Amino acid sequence: MSIPLTSTQKAVRWHPPSYDIRVEDVPIPQIQHPDDALVKVKFAGLCGSDLHVYRGHAGVDKVHISGHEFIGEVVALGSSYGPHSKGRAPLYTTLKIGDKVVSPFTSNCGECPVCRLGYTARCPNGKLFGSPTLEGGQAQFILVPYGGATLFNLSDPNIWPNRTPTTALEDSSLLMLADILPTGVFAALQSLSHPKVQTVLTGKPWPACLLPSTTPMADSMTMTQDDKVLTVAVVGLGPVGVCTVVSLLDMLGARGQPYRVVAIDLLESRRQKMRAVHDKIDVQGKGLGEFVVCAPDEAKVVVKAWTQGIGCTAVIEVVGHNDALELAHELVRAFGVITSVGVHGQPQLPFTGREMYNGNVSLDFGRCPVRAMFPMAFELLIKRQDVFGGVGQPASLIDNITDFKQAAECYRAFEKGEVGKIIFDPWM
Ligand SMILES: [Zn+2]
Ligand SMILES: [Zn+2]
Repeated sequence: MSIPLTSTQKAVRWHPPSYDIRVEDVPIPQIQHPDDALVKVKFAGLCGSDLHVYRGHAGVDKVHISGHEFIGEVVALGSSYGPHSKGRAPLYTTLKIGDKVVSPFTSNCGECPVCRLGYTARCPNGKLFGSPTLEGGQAQFILVPYGGATLFNLSDPNIWPNRTPTTALEDSSLLMLADILPTGVFAALQSLSHPKVQTVLTGKPWPACLLPSTTPMADSMTMTQDDKVLTVAVVGLGPVGVCTVVSLLDMLGARGQPYRVVAIDLLESRRQKMRAVHDKIDVQGKGLGEFVVCAPDEAKVVVKAWTQGIGCTAVIEVVGHNDALELAHELVRAFGVITSVGVHGQPQLPFTGREMYNGNVSLDFGRCPVRAMFPMAFELLIKRQDVFGGVGQPASLIDNITDFKQAAECYRAFEKGEVGKIIFDPWM
């Protein structure tokens, strides 16, 4: 299908300096590079990290199409696509016009030393969708650079369990693969994989927990049953925070790991959502542990009581604000780890080197390499359709699907915390 260069499309564009969202007619992007793929957008998400630009906090002054979460259908491909590209990233040979695709929120080349290690979010050739350098997904069409490495082909039977693509998964659910679910899985995986957590997970004290079991450790202390209960705090219960909790509980359940998890947010509406989601999950999805949802001040009391004042082994910060980091620091134990996937801005971190040294605290920061996380997130998405499947239910992560005419109002209400996650249908 070729689209005439003269055609225009509807797109949600951000205008400087702040709080200015307009729906405008702009040219449909065209294939410019042989590796490009053009995608007709079915749904585009509105995300908490879109708010940094919206508020004018991102140091951005260029008008651009917003949004970094989208799912759609391939409508045009550059000349790199086809059998002649064997040996390159796999989708260059297999992707076809008409395939259903979801994209990570960043493009990545898939072929550089960074991508080869799976660190796709930091590909030196990659760009962030919905930023001044790469037009976003809140449009009817979007150009995807390095489409053969960036996109995830949902029409490929090989990515599905039993190699059978199903129409039972709604596109609104699959859109969660663009950011919120992989980011949640990434946060949980990073946290549980961190060396500081291995004492509790292996039941062996430091440093035996990191060494082969053949290493003689005759004078090791013996840990009690209570020492082997993992305490985790998740700070921030927006959509990514909820995905983080769901993923974390799934991993802990699968390991049979005893745990105490406290999920924290300032807003009662978000706490309610978290409770509704937790109630929906069966015992296979959350194992056997203690789970509490509360406000920050209450969380300090809970953690103190759980740990005799020592603090949580792991804290996952999913907000991207210094207040949240400060709370994380208050809640973490000595020899604990703070994993942060919130998008942080310019302010200096709210703790000193001395505080980090005195607490032996590990800080683990940064953006999720969504492309690398797709298979894990996809598996969880299929497994947890009870919470990731619906729209507008008490336990749904997506509150509403709406049209572009509502875009400016949606941004306003979302920024004020009056609504939860919204999806745009550009064709409505
Ligand atoms: Zn997002
Ligand atoms: Zn790369």
